[in-house]
Formats: sequence, structure tokens, C-alpha cells
Amino acid sequence: MEGMTRAREKRLTAALIGNPNVGKSTVFNALTGLNRHTGNWTGKTVDLAAGTVRGTGGGIELVDLPGCYSLTPTSPEEEAARDLIAKGAADCTVVVCDASCLERNLNIVLQTLRITRRVVVCVNLIDEAAKRGISVDVKRLGALLGVEAVAASAVKKQGLKELVRAIRRAAEVEEAERGRITAAPMWAEAERIAALVVTRDSDARSARFLKLDRLLTGRVTGAAVMLALLALVLFLTMVGANLPSRLLGEAFSALLGSIRLLLQRAGMPALMVSMICDGGLATLMTVVSVMLPPMAIFFPLFTLLEDLGLLPRIAFDLDSGFRRCGGCGKQALTCCMGFGCNAAGVIGCRIIESPRERLIAILTNSLIPCNGRFPTLTALITMFFAAGMGGSGGAVSALIMTGLILLSLAATFLASKLLTITVLKGKPSSFVLELPPFRTPRVGKIIVRSVLDRTLFVLGRAAAAALPAGILIWALANAGETPPLGVGVRLLDPVGAAMGVDGAILMAFILGLPANELVMPLLVMIYSGAGTFSGMSLMRDTLIQNGWSVRTALCVMLLMLFHSPCATTLLTVRRETGSPAWTAAAFLIPSAIGVLLCLAVNGIWTLAGMLY
Ligand code: GDP
Repeated sequence: MEGMTRAREKRLTAALIGNPNVGKSTVFNALTGLNRHTGNWTGKTVDLAAGTVRGTGGGIELVDLPGCYSLTPTSPEEEAARDLIAKGAADCTVVVCDASCLERNLNIVLQTLRITRRVVVCVNLIDEAAKRGISVDVKRLGALLGVEAVAASAVKKQGLKELVRAIRRAAEVEEAERGRITAAPMWAEAERIAALVVTRDSDARSARFLKLDRLLTGRVTGAAVMLALLALVLFLTMVGANLPSRLLGEAFSALLGSIRLLLQRAGMPALMVSMICDGGLATLMTVVSVMLPPMAIFFPLFTLLEDLGLLPRIAFDLDSGFRRCGGCGKQALTCCMGFGCNAAGVIGCRIIESPRERLIAILTNSLIPCNGRFPTLTALITMFFAAGMGGSGGAVSALIMTGLILLSLAATFLASKLLTITVLKGKPSSFVLELPPFRTPRVGKIIVRSVLDRTLFVLGRAAAAALPAGILIWALANAGETPPLGVGVRLLDPVGAAMGVDGAILMAFILGLPANELVMPLLVMIYSGAGTFSGMSLMRDTLIQNGWSVRTALCVMLLMLFHSPCATTLLTVRRETGSPAWTAAAFLIPSAIGVLLCLAVNGIWTLAGMLY
């Protein structure tokens, strides 16, 4: 009986629109039960998700439009949203808003009302707003706008039934002829309405958050706080990673000894045992023991900052700097992604609309140290700059690391500027940078995301490259009377000497092209001929026996910051730009900076040595 009644009801299509990050997808998923399929509603290239609202017997079809700031289209997403509403393909339009920043969201509500009266305003995230002492009078909002407004918390599944009922009612509203969009953004009207319906509890959290935002995005304070946070994260990483790195090294050393013994007892030829143990396994174990501990600490901390809403604020702080260099503030975000992985950073540059600025961001992304280089830098600092400092070693290490990161940022600015005044001339474009509200971080999600998506993924990739690369280098180092590796190293020696390093170091960088993580393990193997697994403490001895001084360590750190992007990143640049010439530029820019810096440091050091 009930089924028949439903069948007779009109089948409705409702479109969901709203600014990005207002919880549109969450509303969509809560209403449809994740029951989505992709429909090509506008015939345009932008795919739209659609699904049936649960409990309506198929009566309401929901279409999720891409997040957009206005209906005056500036992107294919905004155009798709505008077209769907303007062409009347939907019986009702639900505009989802964030209750904690209603004024900014009202612009798109007002623009939608210019086209159609069949509108429901869903004031979402009321729970978050309430936490911050913000409340919205939805009745009054509805009355002022002349359509229904419903308060909701999609995450807590509150207000959703009311929303569905309001959708049905709105679809019945008599519609005058559909208007056409002529409207410029209606900020003044949005401000007026928001002032009438939003109440803020001024002594509550909102005031505190506002103060926090002023502090974090202030001209001087912003930079200072971000720098302090960065130093803190690095400090925790370096201090925390020390002991586990050593223990892991010792454990691996013992394990390798047992494996060697086992293979020998099994009657395997000595050369083969050496290839497996000293080549493949030693490289693999060095990679894991050097990389895993810092990553396991750094990634969760970094993800925590991300989840707290700090990354967009960093982008905001760096915006004027990037602008002055002819780039785009969003480049700060792609730089942050580069910390994780430069290949990911290069792909992330898609968020930059202007092709000129996107190219600048792509070409300079490798100037930011990715996590393949990060642990190596940590290890070098610990071995050569903080050794024997006892308790203060961690703080010194963190300061040096912060300095290196500032240096890489300075290089990014400089390279962007040079590109802007030479091959990539043009004016910076403007963009809307959303400062999302501070949200309580979700610890479970942080752990899953940082451990599974980042730490294990990156480690797995490095480990997969380490085993074959280790075996190959072992073969090159041990083949014949005059092993090819030795010949190459001797050829590179004079170039290395000018740069404050040696031929073996340059060779390790060249052979480490598949993955940055391989450079140090390969170097140790080149030095020790038929290498042995050394762990961190022995690694230092090997380096010093091969003539390393603080100057060598400094030059290697500079090269580690600035050298060719790894093979994966180069391939990604090739794919994203479609141009061998730009790929060559992505290779040359960091390499040139690294070589020049090393030449300069070595030159000055030598000169100072002669004078004093
Ligand atoms: P969209 O970009 O508009 O699709 O936004 P999402 O649906 O991805 O939501 C953005 C974030 O806000 C997610 O982390 C959601 O879990 C969260 N969120 C969405 N709705 C609510 C809500 O009503 N209350 C709270 N506390 N969080 C929400």
C-alpha cells in the first residue's frame, strides 16, 4: 500500500551546491547512504555524483554539484553548477552553508535566489558553530530570504529529516520565470543578512579563535609562530628518532650476521653471499633504519598540523612573499606537499589555475626537501654537528634543520623570481584562499593517514628500490680487476674536490637518481668496496675514515637539499608539463643551485683557511 502511494508521488531531482568544505559531501552521503553513482548531467566534462535519498522509495534523486564560491563562473566546476541550476534540470536546489562562516556562504545563496525560488538553505555544521559560541536564527534567515532554512549537523545526522521535508515543499513552490544571472557578488547584502541572524557569544571560544587567527596570520607573529612550530616539530623528530634509529641499526646488524651465517652454512658461494648480504640487504637495512624512525614521528606531527587547519594559514602567511616573486600563494601548499613527496607536490600544482604560475610551482617544487632526503639530512646533522653535545644536541639539530628548510624556502622564492623575470614573465593572478575554521583533530584518522598513506607507502617504495639498487652497485663495485664504479669515482674526484666533496659522493648522488633515500647507503657501499651494513654509529666512522670533515658534511647537506629531482618526480614533471624542455629545466634548476652553493662554500672555507 505504502509502496503504491510512493510510486504515485512525483520523482524529484534536488541539486546540492555550496562553497567548498561546508560539508556538502557529508550531507550527500548521509542522505543517500553512500549510494552514489556518477552522472553526466550537464553534458560537460565535470562529472557529478548522484544518488537516491534513503527512505523516499526512490522519490528524490540528489545531485552533488562541485563546490564553488559563486555562480559567476570562473572555473569549469562553477560553470557546471550554474548551468544545472539555470537550465532548470533540478526541481529544487539545496544550498549548503557553514554555520560558523555564514556571511561568506550567503553570496552563493543570494545568487541562487536570483535564478530560482525553489531553494532550501541547509545551515550545516551547527555543532561546530555552537562550540565556538556562534548561533544562527534559521527561522529569521528563512523569513529574510523568502525560502526555508534548515539547521543541520550532517556528521551527527541532525536536521536531515527536516531537510528532506523542506526539499519536497520547495519543489512545489510556484516558480516565476527563471532568472538569469547578471549578479555580481552580493557581499553587501550577505553582510546585512548575516548581521541580523548570526549571534556570537563574544566571550566564548569564537573570540579566542579570532585572536588565534590574528596571531597566526599576523605579519610578524604569523611568521614567528610558524617558525617556532616548525622548529618544535623538527626537534621532536630528531630527539625522538635517535634512540629507535640506533636500536633498529643494532637489531639489523645482528639479523644480517645470522642471515650471512645461514647462507654460508647452506653452502652458498662466498661471492653470492656477499652480493646478497653486503649489496642488497645492507642497503635495504640502512634505508629502513635511517628512514623509518624520523618518518614515523614527523608524519603524524605534520598530519596533525594539517588537520588542525594550520596549512592554509601557512599559505596565507607566505602569500605576499610568493606574490612578490611572481608566483601564487597556493604555491605554499604545493611546497608543503613537497615535504612529503616532490612527485606528489608536482601533481598538487594542479590546484594553481594560471598556467604560468603552475609551471613556476612545478619547476621549483624539488627545492623543498622531500621525506626521502629529510632523514638523510637528519642523520648527517646528528653525526657531524650535534655529536657529543649531550642534552642540547637535539635543540642544535632542530635549529640547523630549521635553517636548512628556510634556505630551501629562500631558494624557492629566488628561483620563482628568476623565472618570472626571464622565461615566465607575467603578473600574479588573484585567488580565493579559504581559511577553514580550526577543527578538533581526529586522532584515529591522523594515525591511519600518516602511518598507512604516508610512512608505509614511502618506506615501501624506498625499500623496493633499495634491494635491486644495492645488488647492482655491489656488482659495479666488485666486477673484474678494475671495477667500473672505481673508475667512475676517480673521474669524478676533481669535480668533487672543487665542490668540497669527492668523487664517491657525486657518484652516490648520480646512482641515487631512482630514489633519494639510496644516496647514503650507496655511498657507504662505494667507500667500503664490498660494503657492510653499518647502522648510524658505524656509518660516521666509515665517513670519517674516508676523509670527511664538517665542511664535507655541510657540502653534502647542501647537495642533498639541492640536486636533481628523483626519477619519479622527473617523470611526473614530464607528464604534467608534456614538455622535455621543462623537464630538463626541473632537472637543471636545483642541480645548478646545489653545485653553485657547494662551490661557494668550499671556496670561502678554503679562503678563510688561508687567511687565518
Ligand atoms: P565538502 O567539501 O563541502 O564536500 O565538505 P565535506 O563533506 O568533505 O566536509 C568537510 C569536513 O567537515 C569533513 O571533515 C567533515 O567530516 C566535516 N563536517 C561536515 N559536516 C559536518 C557537521 O555537520 N559537523 C561537524 N562537526 N563536521 C562536519
